[in-house]
Amino acid sequence: MSLDEFGLIQRFFSRHAAGVVLGVGDDAALVAPTPGRQLAISADTLVEGRHFFPGTDPYTIGWKSLAVNLSDMAAMGALPRWFTLCLTLPVADAVWLEGFAAGLFALADAHGVALIGGDTTSGPLAISIQIIGEVEPGLALRRDGAKAGDDIWLSGPVGAAALAVQQRLGKLVLADAELAHCAMRLDQPAPRVALGQALVGMATAAIDISDGLVADLGHIAERSGLGAQICLSLLPSLPIHAARLATPDWLAAQLSGGDDYELCFTAPASAREQLVAIGAAKGWPLARIGSMVDGAGVAVLDAAGRPVSLARSGFNHFS
Ligand code: ADP
Ligand code: MG
Repeated sequence: MSLDEFGLIQRFFSRHAAGVVLGVGDDAALVAPTPGRQLAISADTLVEGRHFFPGTDPYTIGWKSLAVNLSDMAAMGALPRWFTLCLTLPVADAVWLEGFAAGLFALADAHGVALIGGDTTSGPLAISIQIIGEVEPGLALRRDGAKAGDDIWLSGPVGAAALAVQQRLGKLVLADAELAHCAMRLDQPAPRVALGQALVGMATAAIDISDGLVADLGHIAERSGLGAQICLSLLPSLPIHAARLATPDWLAAQLSGGDDYELCFTAPASAREQLVAIGAAKGWPLARIGSMVDGAGVAVLDAAGRPVSLARSGFNHFS
């Protein structure tokens, strides 16, 4: 059976959603925010050939399209509630849509977020999601709140997603187990929503790592009017064979590789004990990797305290 625009929306994207006044099917959705909360609103687009390889499994595309948006909510300390989906498809292929919807809703259900509407057009494959979350007024985790002397924390190891990309481009060879780990990090990142919520009232600034650690930490530094100093030896390590860890590719993946969706955040030294306790209780591998300092830019130091130079800091679409 061929699918037209409305049949497709009806079949794959019209689910009853709890907590929604009016969902898919009208000219606009209606939602009832929790009284007294601020809304956190963000959007992210994935384009075939730019954000994922042509021919990527549709489940992965569905999962990741929402994951990158949930990650922005995590970075704000917001509780994600609703999202819209703007889908541009070259063809209406039921098998593809089945897989895409399965990946999308697996993650949506895990986080209790509801699809409330969207738009469907034909054209080169692209997925654009807008997400809406809620946050206590004045308590959102912004980029501009870091203070000199604050610790810099990372929610877990970074670089795995970039290594999977390198392997897929034929530029690097990973062992099977390494590849399985790295591919999962690239294809089905786990947005740190629960951590973001836990950091509200504790972290002074936060960002999710989509473009690379140095580039994204650089945004916190710039918006906070400070510099950042991190130490290579403090970065949490990945399950990758030790011999590979010393290569320039590996270093670049850790410092400049995007797509990991860990959180980088700052907090005063007085929060250290509490953060260590939370990490232990929840099984989160939180790592203290440096500190905010007077000045500007991000300095990466080796174990001896010497600056490490970087070829590039992160991904940028127009550079
Ligand atoms: P309109 O012509 O009024 O803009 P559309 O025909 O674009 O409405 O969409 C019909 C309904 O289906 C709307 O409620 C819209 O939000 C919803 N919708 C369209 N595409 C999607 C999608 N990909 N996922 C979820 N809902 C969608
Ligand atoms: Mg419309």
